[in-house]
Amino acid sequence: MSAAPGRPKQASAPSRGSEDTSVPSVGATPLLQVTDLRKHFFAPRRWIGAAKPPIQAVDGVSFSVARGETLSLVGESGCGKTTTAKSVLRLIEPTSGSVKLDGEELLGLSAAQMRAHRRHLQIIFQDPYASLSPRLNAGEIVAEPLRNFGDWSAAQRHERVQWLFSKVGLRPDAARKFPHEFSGGQRQRLGVARALALGPKLIVCDEPVSALDVSVQAQVVNLLQDLQNEFGLAYLFVAHDLAVVRHISHRVAVMYLGHIVEVADRDTLFRAPLHPYTESLLAAVPLPDPRLRRQRILLQGDLPSPANPPPGCRFHTRCPLAQAICKEQRPALTQRSVNDQGGQWVACHLR
Ligand code: SF4
Repeated sequence: MSAAPGRPKQASAPSRGSEDTSVPSVGATPLLQVTDLRKHFFAPRRWIGAAKPPIQAVDGVSFSVARGETLSLVGESGCGKTTTAKSVLRLIEPTSGSVKLDGEELLGLSAAQMRAHRRHLQIIFQDPYASLSPRLNAGEIVAEPLRNFGDWSAAQRHERVQWLFSKVGLRPDAARKFPHEFSGGQRQRLGVARALALGPKLIVCDEPVSALDVSVQAQVVNLLQDLQNEFGLAYLFVAHDLAVVRHISHRVAVMYLGHIVEVADRDTLFRAPLHPYTESLLAAVPLPDPRLRRQRILLQGDLPSPANPPPGCRFHTRCPLAQAICKEQRPALTQRSVNDQGGQWVACHLR
């Protein structure tokens, strides 16, 4: 296998086993540790009338990602998964909390200090066309991070771009083409190559295949897995398509109205979900065999407003199992079973 020009191969495969009992995690030294992360959006002050309550898009979220691991964030639109992911990267400035990469706190760093960490944290966007400059050709797009970070000569950049193209399955002569000349899948491969350019440790994948044809989705997902195996990449994978999530994830965190309500390894979560909201999400996934039937769990009502979330368990207004306690006390995310993949964590008074 060809070596990465100018870049050492990353460490691979997480060690398994959890020491931290307060944050769902795998491995004693996670690559990414997020603790009590909050992002509240405040409305502009008005001269007359009461101030509007803040939108609590993310409200006390804790999780970790190990080296070489894929942790998926799932949930309905508006649950806070994309805001969480962008807050980790500080593309959105979090209101409070802690985000540590390799043990180093990122929140509170100045822009200049943060720049040193940017090369380790990259993102692949949902819409590859919108995320690629139409004025640059493909080679320039992939070389852009190399120009912005580090001290690469033109020859080194050229060699690196050629290598990146080969890694994502693009022909070297495609470097002269412009984004509109590529198919959707090829454009997302370009986005992957750009994210890989600086040899990151963690890539946030924000719905990376949801804008692609179904036939192309599997190719891009398989590419991401191959790259993870080769370079020990960690992915924070934001998605709503549970079939994709099931395929690519090591662990899955389910979000509802700014909270994580369940975290478990992929197989446990899909086989034996504990939180009623997780059950309802999984019940909505079509089964491949039409003879199989799954019990439908119909949620009552709409997702409440994050500007005025229900007290207690935020899911109680829609939960078929809700009791009196659910309206008064917020259930803590606690570990319900232990295994070598971090165990199963649930926030529910009854489960
Ligand atoms: Fe439902 Fe109560 Fe559990 Fe919330 S705490 S998920 S309302 S049973």
